[in-house]
Amino acid sequence: MNVVEKAYHSPVGRFVVRKAGLKDPPKLRRGRVLPAGPVVLGEVRPGTEEEPGAGLVRRTMALVDVPVAEALRDVPELRVPDDKGRAQPPRYDTAPGAIIVDATRVRAIGDLEEIRQLLRPIMRSLEPSGRVIMVATDARDVDGWEAHAVAQALDGINRSVGKELRGGSTANLIFVRVDTRPSDLASTISFLLEGRSAFVSGQTWRVGRAQFVHELSDRPFDKRVVVVTGAARGIGEQIARVFARDGATVVCIDLPQSGAALAAVANQLSGSALQLDITSPEAGRRIAEHVARVHGAATRIWAIVHNAGILRDKLLANTDERLWAPVLEVNLAAEMRVNDFLLNNDVHGGLGEEARIVGLSSTTGVAGNRGQTNYAASKAGIIGAVRVMAEDLRERGVTVNAVAPGFIETDMTNSIPFVQREIFRRTNSLQQGGKPIDVAETLAYLCDPASGAVTGQVLRICGQNVIGQ
Ligand code: NAD
Repeated sequence: MNVVEKAYHSPVGRFVVRKAGLKDPPKLRRGRVLPAGPVVLGEVRPGTEEEPGAGLVRRTMALVDVPVAEALRDVPELRVPDDKGRAQPPRYDTAPGAIIVDATRVRAIGDLEEIRQLLRPIMRSLEPSGRVIMVATDARDVDGWEAHAVAQALDGINRSVGKELRGGSTANLIFVRVDTRPSDLASTISFLLEGRSAFVSGQTWRVGRAQFVHELSDRPFDKRVVVVTGAARGIGEQIARVFARDGATVVCIDLPQSGAALAAVANQLSGSALQLDITSPEAGRRIAEHVARVHGAATRIWAIVHNAGILRDKLLANTDERLWAPVLEVNLAAEMRVNDFLLNNDVHGGLGEEARIVGLSSTTGVAGNRGQTNYAASKAGIIGAVRVMAEDLRERGVTVNAVAPGFIETDMTNSIPFVQREIFRRTNSLQQGGKPIDVAETLAYLCDPASGAVTGQVLRICGQNVIGQ
């Protein structure tokens, strides 16, 4: 139990929570763990096998190696009367662990009725930490106002379902292109079904077509070098641990003053430590030289996780240039300089072909926040950079993404007064704060070799926080 959990379970903490009429939040299923109950699949207007993309989800499930059962539908003739003779939607015999709705054929407003039919019976039958996953066609591949309106309507359904689900269950929507293959979608479906996506809910993101095909693996980073900045503590330390668990040789970077903690993390993970201020103009070169020297001259970096970040919170009226510049420098400018250097193919120890670049944004970067104009600028800047870099590097097979965590239980957030912290925790659909591992697992999914079709995306890890929704 960490410090935060101890505070929550302390007599005072429990007293405050009870007095406020709050229940214990649901315990979330985490890690590489599939749902216990059956995974059901509901296809809307299945179409013929000859059509591009037909049966995409069913074929993806074969790759993910999870059997599927047919989903029940709420149609009047299937409704069963309860004791009082009122018609109830059909109920599943065994609580399903997940429903995957293949909505790739949905084009008309009338088609949304089928979505309602598939989702209604599941809403009260899902097991705890269950999953609602919808897969639909990216609006860029559909013609006409109605199909565009319907794609957006699915987003509205997804967000509302996420808010109605209970017991730690999540809802997410994935848009695919008409040329997306099962091998492109498999890593996303696997991530969403497993406990790795515990704190990701109410989100919509896009899966396209990868330049290179890789199979799913439990140790996707075997023989691969991954660089993590700010790895001495907090979220960065957990990121390093998850990548090492999944096979990576991790280069852990942090400031010289965190040297002892940094060395301890790197040693435990059999990785290497580099004491470096990432704002140094030489940072990119220092990283490449370290990788080539310690891990072999021919080594290329598979992924870089730009996690190092700082806060200098003040109302804008009180923010002078000394509070402004370092935040923009550490959280945004340094990352861009390091990327530019490491992407240069002539550099030994630089980023390889097909590399993965991920940044840490924040829900503050999405929604803004009082007292955090400098931080919001830096974290929103990451989102802008991700979009343009992803396009520039698409042909090379390099992916560029970001995550935007909400309230995560760390030393940083532990310094917030208890009552305020409890409010932050509770204002999301999962009614609790996330854990550093939730951020780490999402980053590992984005950096997975099998996630080459996921680029230019910003995933919120916030339990569907009300802010910025
Ligand atoms: P933290 O302060 O606990 O850890 C940040 C680490 O980065 C520290 O070890 C620090 O020494 C290192 N660092 C700072 N400046 C550096 C520099 N110039 N060079 C090298 N290393 C440097 O923070 P955290 O809570 O673990 O957050 C990690 C990241 O996640 C940050 O980018 C933060 O903005 C982001 N984030 C956190 C939350 C949250 O709730 N904790 C929410 C949204 C986003």
